[in-house]
Amino acid sequence: MVSTVIIGSERSETGLPAGMDVLRRGGSALDAVEAAMRRCEDNLADHYVGTGGLPNAQGVVELDASVMLGSDRRFGAVGALRGYPNAISVARAVLERLPQHCLLVGEGAALFAQENGFAAAELLTDESRALWREQLLTAVDSVEGENTAAADGDHRYRRAALDLVRRMSPHEGPWGTINIIALDAHGELCVGVSTSGYPFKYPGRVGDSAVPGAGNWCDLRGGGAACTGRGELSMRGGTARTVVDLLALGKEPSDACRIALQETASLPDDYRAELRALALTPDGRHGGAAGQDGSVYAVMTEGSTGPELHPRCVA
Ligand code: ASP
Repeated sequence: MVSTVIIGSERSETGLPAGMDVLRRGGSALDAVEAAMRRCEDNLADHYVGTGGLPNAQGVVELDASVMLGSDRRFGAVGALRGYPNAISVARAVLERLPQHCLLVGEGAALFAQENGFAAAELLTDESRALWREQLLTAVDSVEGENTAAADGDHRYRRAALDLVRRMSPHEGPWGTINIIALDAHGELCVGVSTSGYPFKYPGRVGDSAVPGAGNWCDLRGGGAACTGRGELSMRGGTARTVVDLLALGKEPSDACRIALQETASLPDDYRAELRALALTPDGRHGGAAGQDGSVYAVMTEGSTGPELHPRCVA
């Protein structure tokens, strides 16, 4: 039997204990990832995933999510899903109940959720609507962080977002996806990613969280990896896939994440903002990297009493 582990990006602590309970009872990595991610998606205080996520340029919440299994690289995902709070479960249903496809978006994703009995709900809360407005008002003057290429890019993105929102809604006046990776007692690995995506995005924009190889990749020959941050960069960089390829070549998880992020950072990008990566191997080693100092990820093993935070190395 393999020693089980579950890891997650910043703010996954809300869900990891539920995932570890599943693993301790002998449950699958897929069940563990789903149980953990649903807790995060249902956390109304988290504005970057599930209910209460920040909306697009028209003020509508659109969710992206995916799950991938390491043994056979089955992948299920939804993009720009409106009206269904637990995008991770709909992504899992795509993987299990629609094996002829991997990814559904927009209306088709919502139709599939409805056909499969998922309950529809309003995803925009009063708090996330207020935050959306507040961030717009401060979009041009303030961006957290220092005077780096990432902060400049983020600033430029927000200025462009403001223009977009003005154009799209003329009458209306720490970002981050959650990644969770689990290793079960049978040695299966599962990577789950869920997000409301970049606030103020163009309606219909699908980010890396739903795209295999970009924000999510899992292959037992190397490990599982996931990204948070500027999805357009990890889509162009194939970043999660690169991390796993480096693991397969024998790199340690934090080195694999660091090298993959450095490669991605070599791409020109006017809207550059921070990108982070996280990885777990089939023998339970884990690590992460980020463009900035001070980033962490959360870990639970069988003996843990709660999530422990580990530093990510700087890419
Ligand atoms: N990766 C997400 C996206 O591009 C956003 C994030 O992690 O902040 O939609």
